[in-house]
Amino acid sequence: MIVVMEPRAAEQRINQVVERLKSLGFEVHLSRGVEKTIIGAVGERRAEAAQAIEAMPGVEKVVPILHQFKLAGLQFKPERSVINVSGIEFGGEKVVCIAGPCAVESREQLIAVAEAAKQAGADMLRGGAFKPRTSPYSFHGLEEEGLKLLAEAREVTGLPFVTEVVNPRDIELVASYADMLQIGARNMQNFTLLREVGASGKPVILKRGLSATIEEWLNAAEYIISAGNWNVILCERGIRTFETFTRNTLDVSAIPAVKSLSHLPIIADPSHATGKSKLVPAVALAAVAAGADGLLIEVHPCPSEALSDGPQSLTPAEFKSLMTELRPIAAAVGRLL
Ligand code: PEP
Ligand code: MN
Repeated sequence: MIVVMEPRAAEQRINQVVERLKSLGFEVHLSRGVEKTIIGAVGERRAEAAQAIEAMPGVEKVVPILHQFKLAGLQFKPERSVINVSGIEFGGEKVVCIAGPCAVESREQLIAVAEAAKQAGADMLRGGAFKPRTSPYSFHGLEEEGLKLLAEAREVTGLPFVTEVVNPRDIELVASYADMLQIGARNMQNFTLLREVGASGKPVILKRGLSATIEEWLNAAEYIISAGNWNVILCERGIRTFETFTRNTLDVSAIPAVKSLSHLPIIADPSHATGKSKLVPAVALAAVAAGADGLLIEVHPCPSEALSDGPQSLTPAEFKSLMTELRPIAAAVGRLL
């Protein structure tokens, strides 16, 4: 349940409610707004408990939580979350652009992309060091060597980086290098991984599963938050539909839908959504127009030689012109880029 305290309720009143909820067996989370404090009580739903709390001094009202996810929901935290990742803010005024190759392949490849991304105005670098691939025979990444190259590229350009973690046993290693972790679409419901990424406290991009509903996706975010990590950024990367012309189908409506349900920032990945570099710019523009807080774009110095996802990767020049096209769209919806 959600306990809404009266405007400017005294600290002592808030504490009394918190203690009472704990004694009734609830796990308690506080959300302090400018005017009101909201207390999220997670536990078994019991009418008597709600009534007892509603009768306490300082309580304005008690409302049941409508969704399975609670901490990720707007009911509990009506103010939008702004998540700071090494100085880059997700969910603020600026649309955050993350660019880089699908996989880190070599120093030469990565530094070339990182410098081009920086020069075009990207805010963060991406690159896979541990790659989950559909086929066991495909390239699976340079692992720790890839992380070292990403750290070197950050040193050279000043761009923080995000990279995927696929296995709970690698979280510590990946988190020791990266500014932000990524949970890929295929792992969206790997609940052990979600819990452990939650415990790590590192900011995380949580991609939507290939066939996950919005509710399932927000429940996946709930796993991370309930393990103690509020730094979750959602990423719409396209879902499976009957259409095969594109690799996936970007669910543009998921962007405003998530915003109506959750305080978490949401970014879009037009590269994995379309699978075709020619379609990436238009879909990127659509995502920003729909309110995305950021973009994740695959860029490779020579897409035809990429070890993974070449067909959907932009060249540095294409990325630069996309950034130019994006600015007026961002401005039209009241955002900076
Ligand atoms: C990726 O970002 O390179 C990736 C594997 O994405 P997804 O998990 O969305 O397929
Ligand atoms: Mn990829």
